[in-house]
Amino acid sequence: MRRRFARFAALLAFAAGTAAAEPPRVVVSIKPLHSLVASVMDGVGAPLLLVKTSADPHSYTLKPSEAQALDAAQFVVWSGPGVETFLEKPLAALAGKARILRLDREKSLKLLKAREGGLWEEEGHGGHKHTRGHAHGEIDGHVWLDPDNAAAIVRAVARELSQLDKGNAAAYAANADKTVAALKALDADLRRQLAPLRGKRFVVSHDAIQYFEKRYGLAAAGSISVSPERPPSARRLYEIRSRILRDKVVCVFGEPQVPDSLVKTAVEGTKARTGQIDTDGGAAVPEGKDAYAAMMRNVAKALADCLGRD
Ligand SMILES: [Zn+2]
Repeated sequence: MRRRFARFAALLAFAAGTAAAEPPRVVVSIKPLHSLVASVMDGVGAPLLLVKTSADPHSYTLKPSEAQALDAAQFVVWSGPGVETFLEKPLAALAGKARILRLDREKSLKLLKAREGGLWEEEGHGGHKHTRGHAHGEIDGHVWLDPDNAAAIVRAVARELSQLDKGNAAAYAANADKTVAALKALDADLRRQLAPLRGKRFVVSHDAIQYFEKRYGLAAAGSISVSPERPPSARRLYEIRSRILRDKVVCVFGEPQVPDSLVKTAVEGTKARTGQIDTDGGAAVPEGKDAYAAMMRNVAKALADCLGRD
């Protein structure tokens, strides 16, 4: 009897303790990264997502409520200014108030340089703001598109959260283990699905899936390098068409922020098909811990649907 009461008392104390402890205030830039962080925080709290569905992280504008949330954040996760250009200034203004995990500088990740030359080269280099362009020699910030990097992100997030919130360190570690195991299974699935696509040539709208290509033995021939603000010139379109014909490019992929008409123009007079790749998740993928796997499966499906047809 006494024993049972002691157990009950311990339970009460535990419940009071958890109710009193607020989960850490965490802000994440984009949906796939938010998904990985949500997975690590599962059962403890929920991170806030900044760039919601269909917005372009390269040219996003923070809402006042989001700027407030950022100001109050204890931990912020982003890829870096190559992708979330809009966060560079607000994060600099936070000036050490929050822990910041910037992934394009995270040494535990496999980091690749943004591609240059040929169809990877952008038009009219120099000073053009708000494009999806990348400076020479810059790290390609789309680091999350390799499940190994996703696992490294999960480990880094668990490490930072455990330092910030020691009381939940065991939960973060257990969640990280579970998430990394799920990422391994996802990787094996994608490898199987994408193996038949090796050697097929395609063009992307901007250099966003390099990590995915390297992981699964695919190789894009180049990019249209367009932005909604700056459509390609007639000369660029001629270059792309010549490349499609010369390299036997099977597919040209657009993305949600790029008008379909532009991709159709690029393939005019060639036999190339068109598809769409969304590396941020998109409307069909609800935010949360399952968003990462759903986004990766959608990228693989988009590639397979277009490249796999004969
Ligand atoms: Zn991008």
